[in-house]
Amino acid sequence: MRRAKLAAAVWRTRRAQGVQILEAGALGKIPWLVHGFTLRPGGASMLDGKRVFNLGRTDWDTRENVLANRGKLLTALGAKPMQIVSQRQFHSTLTRVLDAAPEQPVKGDALITRTPGLLLAVLTADCVPILLADTKRRAVAAVHAGWRGTLARIAEKTLGKMRMTFGTCPRDVLAVLGPGIGRGCYEVGAEVAQAFHSQFAHAAEWFEGPFERLVSDDTPNPLQWLNMHPPGHQPPPPSVHLDLLAANRWQLEHAGVPTANILASNLCTACRKDILFSHRAEFGRTGRLMGVIGIRV
Ligand SMILES: [Zn+2]
Repeated sequence: MRRAKLAAAVWRTRRAQGVQILEAGALGKIPWLVHGFTLRPGGASMLDGKRVFNLGRTDWDTRENVLANRGKLLTALGAKPMQIVSQRQFHSTLTRVLDAAPEQPVKGDALITRTPGLLLAVLTADCVPILLADTKRRAVAAVHAGWRGTLARIAEKTLGKMRMTFGTCPRDVLAVLGPGIGRGCYEVGAEVAQAFHSQFAHAAEWFEGPFERLVSDDTPNPLQWLNMHPPGHQPPPPSVHLDLLAANRWQLEHAGVPTANILASNLCTACRKDILFSHRAEFGRTGRLMGVIGIRV
């Protein structure tokens, strides 16, 4: 009961325009800030006979529907005069500081601004959307963190760019990690485990399964291993599960954001296809969730 009350204070759901938007209590208290993470139900798009709130380009949806949904998002947030700015994301560490909406679509995976009226957007369907707010200098950022971006420290790099551009102190930053794929549903191969192992001393803490075995150098003789099993009966290669939230939380803390300033949703996109979109759990045929943050006009 007490815990439920506490959770409700940390996250709340805004319902308007027939759609739902998840809001973090800590950011919701800041009067100059607009933010939210969209949920799946409602919206102008139709996917497998159901209305969905799809905010990104996909092959099954129309541009008109996506634009209508983006309009609904602005109205639902009470942010009608603001302009949504999204990017063509490509799992890079390209961070971009904006002082106006770009005239041509831009590529990158993190947007930063201190200009009122720009609603910075990150599109996801399993990757972790991260919203950052420097409460002292009134700067905001929206970050796309899949495993590649996480491996290349995109959250840390975005904070570094905010520090360089605006003098942001990490201790003044509130960080919110929206719904992404949970550890239990995020199976990754040996190459991902090895890549993290080579970049982070703490990587083992973010993996579940035989991480040490996958990253150790003494690989068994493959011929000997094959001979132990009859043809067609080889066990699948060992796999591990990656906790993207934990890896990004560590990066933010490592960069100086106080633990108490970091809030993460525990909703897993793959477990909750009823209210979220999951690229992996829906085999690519799904929509895009949008996380947005901006400074009111
Ligand atoms: Zn899950």
